[in-house]
Amino acid sequence: MQIFDKLYIGGRWTPASGADMIDVFNASTEEAIGRIPAGGAADAEAAAESARNAFEGWAATPPAERANVIRKIADGLKRRAEELARIISMEVGMPLKLSARIQVGGPIAAWEAYGKLAGEFAFEERVGHSLVVQEPVGVVACITPWNYPLHQVTAKVAAALAAGCTVVLKPSEVAPLTSFLLAQAIEEAGLPIGVFNLVTGFGPVAGEALVEHPAADMVSFTGSTRAGKRVAELASRSVKRVALELGGKSASVILDDADLATAVRATVNACFLNSGQTCSALTRMLVPEDRYQDAKRIAREVAGAFTLGDPLNGATRLGPLASAAQRERVRQFIRTGIAEGAELITGGPEAPEGLAKGYFVKPTVFGRVRPDSTIAQEEIFGPVLSILTYHDDEEAIRIANGTLYGLAGAVWSRDEGRAQRVARRLRAGQIDINGAPFNLAAPFGGFKQSGIGRENGRFGLEEFLEPKSLQLKA
Ligand code: NAP
Repeated sequence: MQIFDKLYIGGRWTPASGADMIDVFNASTEEAIGRIPAGGAADAEAAAESARNAFEGWAATPPAERANVIRKIADGLKRRAEELARIISMEVGMPLKLSARIQVGGPIAAWEAYGKLAGEFAFEERVGHSLVVQEPVGVVACITPWNYPLHQVTAKVAAALAAGCTVVLKPSEVAPLTSFLLAQAIEEAGLPIGVFNLVTGFGPVAGEALVEHPAADMVSFTGSTRAGKRVAELASRSVKRVALELGGKSASVILDDADLATAVRATVNACFLNSGQTCSALTRMLVPEDRYQDAKRIAREVAGAFTLGDPLNGATRLGPLASAAQRERVRQFIRTGIAEGAELITGGPEAPEGLAKGYFVKPTVFGRVRPDSTIAQEEIFGPVLSILTYHDDEEAIRIANGTLYGLAGAVWSRDEGRAQRVARRLRAGQIDINGAPFNLAAPFGGFKQSGIGRENGRFGLEEFLEPKSLQLKA
């Protein structure tokens, strides 16, 4: 049991203003594994003030010095890598080996990359007779979800610090423990007092207080489209800059000349990664009508190989969902899919056999899903794949673009040029062609209601910069 009974504000571990605590659960056993403070508005205010006071000094710190501290933070995370991976597997449900690589290895690489970028980035350029300087936006309120907890925190905090901003972080209370380990690494690295502050608590309380606080210049939010709209509304009252990374309903478009087995296998794997709790998960698989039967057979086989169990057990390929609420939500979507007439190929809403405890949901595949049905339109955030069919490329593109979301997607074809032409017509922020892997340096973010702004790499750094023009006499 890890008990963190203090918040990190102004360079000190500080008791929260109230006495309430929040339990953190192991998703496989439903037992409490940690406890954190339920911070309130007063804590959010203290943290925002502390970040405000630290801003001028950090913004004026030469980028090379900022880069040094950021690299030390990466080292601190490296020393804690095993513990971080175990915590995330327990909180979120991802199998341990994958957590170590994706949920921890990725963020450490990102901290290192921002360390490098802070030292190399051109914060000034000449444009005609102007000197354009890129200044940090100011105090950033970073609000993050639970599904890739350290990754989402890193995409905001590392980039903001590299830009010269100061930060208040409010992580999700479902998976907050790694944020405390990050705060320890930050303290060890010698980041100046007040540059990074950690406040835990519930979104509508601690989160809203931060978003509304006059000391915050920007809100960088990752989470559901519903909460993102609320955050944007509140932030607009004081014209804060807002970056939103929201939900998705991404399509994997398998063209008629694709290697069907490879494409279906990769799509099912991508859909079920992290028990489907991935914003960019490929949750709609589009196949040509005359290949439906083959696609269905392959998808059933691949889904059947996802052995459910505790993510700390090496044989597990599919862990639980992060919370009881999420499990119920996903099971309800499965019931809706059945009620709306989709073909249940495998899985279903019942509890998986032999797993009396834990927030488990059976790996589920639906076929003959209508493009306008609930399970084809709404983000489910669980191990549920929908197969839809189409007759020609135009129809495939129309279906792929036919949701409110536009976060990610995939295109499969033996003809790379054709795949690229289709990919260019998809209204989404990143498209994988023929199974190409994630790129941490490439921009990540959404079109339409999947969000505003981009994270990762140089594009992520630029989110936290404000250009200023100094007009010079020749
Ligand atoms: P969520 O319920 O929207 O919560 C996200 C964060 O916002 C949490 O820290 C939450 O705090 C806080 N929050 C909730 N209501 C708030 C309010 N009124 N004001 C301020 N903060 C508030 O999302 P989630 O269930 O944790 O995460 C899943 C969602 O995140 C999915 O929709 C997924 O697609 C999306 N996501 C998007 C990306 C992307 O990059 N586009 C990446 C990952 C996840 P509490 O938890 O304490 O309420």
